[in-house]
Amino acid sequence: MSNERNDETAALCADWQMDTYTRTATIVKGRGSRVFNPKGQQYLDFTSGISVVALGHAHPAVVEAIKTQAETLVHSSNLFYTPQVGLLAKKLSEVGLGGKCFLANSGAEANEAMIKLARLWGSRNGGRYEIVSMRGSFHGRTLATLSATGQSKVQTGFDPLMPGFAFATLNDLESVRAAITEKTAAVLLECIQAEGGVVPATEEFVTGVRALCDEKGILMLCDEVQCGMGRTGKMWGFQHYGVEPDAFTSAKALGGGLPLGALLASKALSGVFGPGSHGSTFGGNPVACAASLAVFKVFEDEKIVENVPALGEFFRRGLQQYVEKYDDLLEVRGKGLLIGLALKEPRAGELLDEMRLNGLLACKAGDSVVRFLPPLNVTEKDLEEGLEMIGDALSTVFGGDEE
Ligand SMILES: *Cc1c(COP(=O)(O)O)cnc(C)c1O
Repeated sequence: MSNERNDETAALCADWQMDTYTRTATIVKGRGSRVFNPKGQQYLDFTSGISVVALGHAHPAVVEAIKTQAETLVHSSNLFYTPQVGLLAKKLSEVGLGGKCFLANSGAEANEAMIKLARLWGSRNGGRYEIVSMRGSFHGRTLATLSATGQSKVQTGFDPLMPGFAFATLNDLESVRAAITEKTAAVLLECIQAEGGVVPATEEFVTGVRALCDEKGILMLCDEVQCGMGRTGKMWGFQHYGVEPDAFTSAKALGGGLPLGALLASKALSGVFGPGSHGSTFGGNPVACAASLAVFKVFEDEKIVENVPALGEFFRRGLQQYVEKYDDLLEVRGKGLLIGLALKEPRAGELLDEMRLNGLLACKAGDSVVRFLPPLNVTEKDLEEGLEMIGDALSTVFGGDEE
């Protein structure tokens, strides 16, 4: 994939924004599972803004909630109580761990809050501060969260990294046990590594980590920023494994498209932070909270999460047929509508470019995996249309291998 400068907007962004992103199409409007470029051409959007607009673009209930709240109160700061903030915090406790939350503006910030929580807890429980994180993980781009991330590509050049992180290997319980010392406060993991290539943790591993944390008297922390909010067919990724972490983070889809992140803690950890322990000027912005409440309401009214497994299965079956047809494809993996098509060679960018030419947008997860994140309320018809475009792109890129 390369930066494209197809129009005035692309030129403006490229000329005046720092060069941190690889961008392609220009998008000016979105409706449901489709987005439009300035010429009015449409794309089927299987990125959902990187798993953010889980209900598709411009869901009427989310738009209405944002409009109403914007007209009423946009911001008042955390010096004061605001109804939407309280209502959302209660909702998060109900769907989360039954404890309290801290509201932030992004995934990285939510993870920063979780790291601080673990350190404060550890400082009061035997002077523990170290966090064992997984190789291949992704936790954000702030200094603490990139130090927690198990991928050197986000760390290179930013030394010295923040101390206090050790690394283990996903699905290798013994590596976690070996990484734990008397200084370890917590183990941190994504139940499905998303950016790291759509790699699900095994049941044996996740239940094993839970048991290991209990045995050692340390915290189990989950990063649900991408695999949470119904994306995998349950509200939270860890629910597939029948365990509960001591705390976890949410963001991406949480705010219905607006910037919102949350740290959700168990009852036992809900009192670790006190006045002055942590804070954020924008965290728990009333408009973002109102949008989030609308998302949870639509989830319930339209049985969104309940429908994800069948939609995911339908899409997987289609992709599986391509895996059987093309030698260059390795496998389909993931859960629900967090799906990766793994290639044998690092050619995901080429395939994405070709899919985009056919009218379909998707993400990468490393150079060898194409990651599909359709809206959770996508129709089978849209999935079918997407599968056709994927088929056309595969035949262009890997056509030589067609049997
Ligand atoms: C996207 C992501 C983050 C970072 O979220 P930002 O909102 O970009 O800061 C953290 N963890 C996971 C698992 C993510 O997918």
